[in-house]
Amino acid sequence: MFRRPMAVLSLVLIAAACSSHPTGRIDDARLVAADADTAKWLSYGRTYDEQRYSPLTQVNDANVAELGLVWSREYPTSRGMEATPLVVDGTIYTTASWSVVYAYDAATGEQLWTYDPKVDRTRTRTVCCDVVNRGLALYRGHVFVGTLDGRLISLDARTGAPAWDVMTIDPAKPFAITGAPRVAKGRVLIGNAGAEYGVRGYISAYDAATGALVWRVYSVPGDPSLPFESRALEAAAKTWSGDKWLATGGGGTTWDPIVYDPELDQVYFGTGNGTAWYRDLRATGDNLYLASILAVRASDGEYVWHYQVTPGDNWDYDATQPLMQATLTIGGAPRKVVMQASKNGFFYVIDRTNGQFISATPFVDGITWATGIDSVTGRPIESPTAYAGLDPVVVSPDPEGAHNWYPMAMDPARGLVFLGARSFATTFHAPDKEWTYNPSGLNVGYDPRYEGEMVTRANEAPAPVGELVAWNPVERRAAWRVKLPVSQSGGVLATAGNLVLQGSADGMLSAYHAADGRRLWQFDAGTGVMAPPVTYLVGDKQYLTVMVGWGGAQGLFNPSNMGPVKPGFSRILTFALGGTATLAPTPYGHTEPPTPAASVAMTPAEVNEGRLLYEDNCIGCHGAGAIAGPVPDLRYMTAEVYGQMEAIVLGGARQQLGMPSFSGRLDQQQLRLIQGYIMAQAELAASRGAKP
Ligand code: CA
Repeated sequence: MFRRPMAVLSLVLIAAACSSHPTGRIDDARLVAADADTAKWLSYGRTYDEQRYSPLTQVNDANVAELGLVWSREYPTSRGMEATPLVVDGTIYTTASWSVVYAYDAATGEQLWTYDPKVDRTRTRTVCCDVVNRGLALYRGHVFVGTLDGRLISLDARTGAPAWDVMTIDPAKPFAITGAPRVAKGRVLIGNAGAEYGVRGYISAYDAATGALVWRVYSVPGDPSLPFESRALEAAAKTWSGDKWLATGGGGTTWDPIVYDPELDQVYFGTGNGTAWYRDLRATGDNLYLASILAVRASDGEYVWHYQVTPGDNWDYDATQPLMQATLTIGGAPRKVVMQASKNGFFYVIDRTNGQFISATPFVDGITWATGIDSVTGRPIESPTAYAGLDPVVVSPDPEGAHNWYPMAMDPARGLVFLGARSFATTFHAPDKEWTYNPSGLNVGYDPRYEGEMVTRANEAPAPVGELVAWNPVERRAAWRVKLPVSQSGGVLATAGNLVLQGSADGMLSAYHAADGRRLWQFDAGTGVMAPPVTYLVGDKQYLTVMVGWGGAQGLFNPSNMGPVKPGFSRILTFALGGTATLAPTPYGHTEPPTPAASVAMTPAEVNEGRLLYEDNCIGCHGAGAIAGPVPDLRYMTAEVYGQMEAIVLGGARQQLGMPSFSGRLDQQQLRLIQGYIMAQAELAASRGAKP
């Protein structure tokens, strides 16, 4: 055959081109040996164990004061940044809001390419916690990104050209993807979000070369009229009762952590809350596998073990915080463990060979939902005050959690895990006994009459406490704690240079001494920092890079008691010893009180009605009290925009900017009440002459 040698030749050429690019050589062996590859940052948690510990020492506790900015790039967005950049041989691959991918020259900041997946902006109506993206996976010359609208895309790492683009969800359902994919033995693993809105959670494994679905594992039982997908789900179904939850899908989404364990060839993932939050609305039982950590076989997704962190969850205690693997000496014996500082305030150490509970210890003060975890059964000892059925109860932690998605890091030599923690109590009101599934909105199941009161109380409560905690998972105690100016934390990096690096909501990037938490260096990043820094070499020089951008659930909700947060334009910063570049952030926000766009004649009762509608529909993005952080502050809208509000809110005129249409959910009269409330808030700010 004439054609055959040509085909073989072109395949050889493609293979040669791929392997000649540094990313072409990123294969299974490279990923397993990533710890020794100190120049690179090859995967989300740097190594498969996700310890985010760099052995580099060029930048260290003795010279970190000389760390300076080398370059920065500002993005045309003020939305949140949560990505962990990946770095291979002097090229940075990262993601920004709306799942947009960028590649840069790490030494100069020159943009090599960008890829915009053109996310369907209308989906923001059912995206809970900002249009963030936590990053990429790299494998055999390709980078993989999950998009907010549910796709998984493979891009050529040299050019950013898409190789394949697959839909991982049912687009008719309120799924979203914010988490970073992981690669395990040629499969790309991805989960999804949406349990607040009503979906059935799962993770999927796709063939890295072709995009073909290899396996899918659901976290909760499905339609009982259909056969169970696995024996694990058949067992799980026995822990659910009633049928009210069925229409919702049940929840249990894996919106963040999926990790691969090459030693045991297992994949671990955490699952989120049920739909609705209130367990009475899901009937009684543990509701497996909600709020759990699961292990499945990497080859086919077959169930291996599970540990349910919060049985019968009632408080949005997702078990979706980062999962970190380690081998710890416990009771004189080495144990292969997986660890999680969970939303519910306990630091869990689980045997990853069999799922056996080892320990769970409070890492913040003031936990009220449980008095402890039974050391034999591993089940929480729930406080009688944590769930009072129809009566409101004050519970700590609140749904934002004692820890959330922000990655933790480990210093294996010191045996310490560093993490951002927060403590805050909130009022859980009575469930809405009349609740039925609402496919177009949040399904948390509060009695709607109390939602406004909840917001008011959240604003009046003492400020939440935020800390950077150095946790010893063997001794089960904090080695040190540093109080942060704002409760909302940033992701953490640890290095062999005795450093712990973390950004904060007030826009500061800080380096602490790993031994005692002494602050050694600080840089004003201009905008709040949530994302974790990474470090790597270009040539023989050590660099650090971090994504800067304020947002997320707390950033958008913007409660007035949060502290000195700094919304602003987002950017990427790169540092090295002796760096002398300066930052000139584009001004953001308002410096003067608002001038109300319209004078609205409404009774106090109507304004209050408008407030309740605002809190039910708008508060998740435009902020408590209509005081916004990363999105437009509605008190400052112009008369022109005020006149367009019906076209915007009901007609979807700004859908492509991320403002979804609320048609079908709000009518003209309700919009009028919301407008009145916003103008009342603008008048209040104007009359106080308050700085925004
Ligand atoms: Ca949740």
